[in-house]
Amino acid sequence: MKRKDFLKTSVAAAGLSVLPHLASAKSPAPGKSFRFAFISDIHIKPEKIAEEGMTRSLQHIQKLRPEAEFIIMGGDAIYDSLKATKEYTKVQWDLYQSILKKENVLPVYNCIGNHDIFGWYNTPQVTADPLYGKAWALKELGLSAPYYHFNKGKWDFIVLDSTQQRPEGGYIAKLDEDQFQWLEKKLAEIPSDHFISIISHIPILSICAGLYFGKNDPNGDLRIQYMLMHTDFFRIKELFNKYPNIKNCLSGHIHLEDEVDYNNVRYFCNGAVSGNLWKGPYYEFGPAYALFDFYEDGSCKREMVSYY
Ligand SMILES: [Zn+2]
Repeated sequence: MKRKDFLKTSVAAAGLSVLPHLASAKSPAPGKSFRFAFISDIHIKPEKIAEEGMTRSLQHIQKLRPEAEFIIMGGDAIYDSLKATKEYTKVQWDLYQSILKKENVLPVYNCIGNHDIFGWYNTPQVTADPLYGKAWALKELGLSAPYYHFNKGKWDFIVLDSTQQRPEGGYIAKLDEDQFQWLEKKLAEIPSDHFISIISHIPILSICAGLYFGKNDPNGDLRIQYMLMHTDFFRIKELFNKYPNIKNCLSGHIHLEDEVDYNNVRYFCNGAVSGNLWKGPYYEFGPAYALFDFYEDGSCKREMVSYY
């Protein structure tokens, strides 16, 4: 018997007892649960480049079927309704709906962005309008509440509403009290052997939130404004610390890309489909969406996809 054949025979004779050892030595990839696209900050408006961009991004994602099973829309679907007229807000939502209907067949889970909120920056504010505030976006996005939960096998997703109105005007990134209490309750309900992914338009934690304006304060500080990252990060972190099954947090809003790994939670900021609001790249980051693989062991992988 040649030496090569002897090796073959002895491995075969050892049978299954050898195989687990060989397999573990190669540390195979964990079983894949599912793949989905995370699109945020489309900021659709009636301009050729924006309409083509949204169309192309959705067409790109459709080609990834059936591996890509669904889409999470990370917010700021439309260019802006915070200070737009009612007529222009309608134009934007109608455009968004028509492109989505034409170009997408995948299930979509929506998250509300600040620019999807109608009328907060208008003067005077027409609070009596039934579409004022988040009502219009909820209707367009088919949501009964601005925050909710859905399940995919071993993974549970919690979609949050980052944008709260400031009494002084404008908005601030945080959870309102009712939402925080809902989150506490929801986390307690999810079985501890499930993994949890948190979706928010505005990042809960992000370094690129501090890079958004591209410069330091005059005294050298790198400042993160209250509109750019959750101001209640410390409170949320204390809650997260009770749940080691919270594995990642996905967001948009900043139009930049980063990943911050903090205390065993991975915080991904996922760029923007619109790049710099359809004027090319925002600093280093061109128009893109994120493709996520979520695995059965609680891990995940992100790939940023330039769809042009
Ligand atoms: Zn935003």
